[in-house]
Amino acid sequence: MEVRVNDECSACGVCEDICPEVFELGDEKAEVKVNPVPAEYEEQVREAAEECPTESIEITE
Ligand code: SF4
Repeated sequence: MEVRVNDECSACGVCEDICPEVFELGDEKAEVKVNPVPAEYEEQVREAAEECPTESIEITE
């Protein structure tokens, strides 16, 4: 799984709360710390994508 955060991100911090191992808030948007996503975090990344209020988290399987 690969994941990216697009420019619609509002830097709300929800993804970092759900999976801080993969997402980290930068100055203006969330950054992805590790790609491809380690298998043990895939479920949390999917949850973050579902919870993201701006639908900014794009997953490629
Ligand atoms: S949950 Fe979505 S809008 Fe919020 S920081 Fe993460 S990518 Fe950005």
